[in-house]
Amino acid sequence: MTTATHGNLFILSSPSGAGKSSLIKALLTKHQDIKMSVSHTTRGPRPGENNGEHYHFVSEADFNALILADDFFEWAKVFDNYYGTSKAAVASQLDAGLDVFLDIDWQGAQQVRKLVPDVKTIFILPPSQQELENRLNGRGQDSQEVIAKRMAQAKSESSHYNEFDYVLVNDDFDTTLSQLEHIVIAARMELKAQQTRHGALITDLLR
Ligand code: GDP
Ligand code: ADP
Ligand code: 5GP
Repeated sequence: MTTATHGNLFILSSPSGAGKSSLIKALLTKHQDIKMSVSHTTRGPRPGENNGEHYHFVSEADFNALILADDFFEWAKVFDNYYGTSKAAVASQLDAGLDVFLDIDWQGAQQVRKLVPDVKTIFILPPSQQELENRLNGRGQDSQEVIAKRMAQAKSESSHYNEFDYVLVNDDFDTTLSQLEHIVIAARMELKAQQTRHGALITDLLR
């Protein structure tokens, strides 16, 4: 007999363009029991981004109201815009036994680590600086000015890689996706989760 367990919380961070969004999207397509928390942001939508799906796009006034209402689990200013994870979205999915991914920057990761010590954190590095620039240009959704700003910040963002539990180099996409899946699957087999899931079996075996 199995017992429902609480889902695991994961954080995926990287310099912009390293592949976080693409990896999470592919992971969610393959695994219905993994969800992504949809952040609030004051940045404008890119072509093809839908409100409520990629982000909740809000004004700075609305964002400030959410801060005052204590609705955010964490929030940070990244590249001149505000980004935040709402408490409600994360808690209900974890309680339903779903694994939840946060695509947040290193500042957000530092805040969440304090609130949820067993959060599993993953940092994605690009295979080279040149490839990172190629990907930001290839995505074709940001202006040259925005790309230049993100490239300029890549080094300081990457310098936080050693605060994370896992470090993946996103060279071949399918290899990285598989590495990510292994991390999620291994986390489900951790002692505490298995004690809950297989409590009756363990009691029986040890009787
Ligand atoms: P990307 O770098 O192409 O994924 O660009 P985005 O505009 O989607 O994200 C910009 C930055 O904000 C990234 O560093 C994200 O990790 C970060 N970010 C996104 N959502 C959140 C969030 O809810 N909280 C925090 N702290 N950071 C976030
Ligand atoms: P992030 O969310 O970290 O900013 P994206 O997921 O938007 O990054 O990826 C940036 C661009 O690089 C996208 O156009 C994506 O298709 C591409 N990309 C992601 N991973 C790889 C990879 N392993 N090889 C080649 N291109 C990739
Ligand atoms: P983009 O503007 O390219 O969508 O995101 C830029 C950066 O903001 C990315 O590094 C992304 O991970 C981060 N980001 C997105 N949402 C949040 C959030 O809710 N909180 C924090 N702290 N960072 C976020």
